[in-house]
Amino acid sequence: MVLQEETNKELLEKEAHRLYGLLGSVSRSKGVKWTLQDCQQAAPYTLAINRLKKEKNAVILAHSYTVPELVYGVADFSGDSYALSRKAETVSADIIIFAGVWFMAETAKILNPSKQVIIPAGHAGCTLADAITEEDVRKLKAAHPGVPVLCYVNSTAGVKAESDVCVTSGNVFNIAANMPQKELIFVPDLLMAQNIEADLKRRGIAKKIISSGGSCCVHDKYTPQDIEALRRQYPGIKVMAHPECRPDVCAAADYVGSTKGMTDYVAASKDKLFGALTEFGLVNRLEAEYKDKTFIWPYGTCAYMKRNTLINTFQALSAPKPEQIVSLSPDVIARARKSLQNMFEMTK
Ligand code: SF4
Repeated sequence: MVLQEETNKELLEKEAHRLYGLLGSVSRSKGVKWTLQDCQQAAPYTLAINRLKKEKNAVILAHSYTVPELVYGVADFSGDSYALSRKAETVSADIIIFAGVWFMAETAKILNPSKQVIIPAGHAGCTLADAITEEDVRKLKAAHPGVPVLCYVNSTAGVKAESDVCVTSGNVFNIAANMPQKELIFVPDLLMAQNIEADLKRRGIAKKIISSGGSCCVHDKYTPQDIEALRRQYPGIKVMAHPECRPDVCAAADYVGSTKGMTDYVAASKDKLFGALTEFGLVNRLEAEYKDKTFIWPYGTCAYMKRNTLINTFQALSAPKPEQIVSLSPDVIARARKSLQNMFEMTK
């Protein structure tokens, strides 16, 4: 479907100014902010997408790491994996357009299977979710009989189906601490597994974490030298890191937490200057929502998340291609749902 350009100039200008009001404080790239002209280019798409959403009875859920023109231009709800999964569960519209990566769209399908779930970026992967298969989990379980499996939400539906409890970066530390077993299997983030062990040790809890998988190609790049450089250049800066970072990076940061955790940390802090060792999209969100604070971002973008654009969102909403539609077997949905529901129970 080709975009029918809106011809009402007044409407287009109004939309461009609406976008500029939201995005004017947001960086497009390092040191370059959104301009009114950028918003004028985005406006025909945001108008068309918002109109089409109503016609098709669709909602758009966008992860905070996707581009800000999606988050602020067309999304009905945006947030981190946990918030989006809770939201997906309660969607009553016929269609969920999920701007994110494949495992997240699968999670929406698992939690609300009667809806059509469409992901604009098609098979946008994730280096964590792609690091382990359900067969790998079965082998781990066979090698460690009786040891419960915790899977990070950044995992495929098949891996979730083989796991006992799904976890997020926001709740994994408490869930791991509260489980009675002395040994836990954790997949697929090897760095987060080390961070869990370190956190349990700090709490005085002796527990062995058996892990397998890989790492996030964005967060595993940060080093303690990045933090030293930030502190040298910006005295007094508060440095935030995600638990997908290396343990030595987490140890050197002022705050370690999930996407929501970092947002809450900024909201509660009287400080004005923050270093964000995380994906650029979260920096954009913080810039948009805390205009009186400054965020220094060394580097780090997720190429998978950035595959969701206004153009493919419009196309996916108009006429989705088979590779954009999430389809899962009822058996996988039922088993994966159990691990997610266990997480919701254990997070209460
Ligand atoms: S930022 Fe990392 S964990 Fe998140 S989707 Fe991208 S590769 Fe996966």
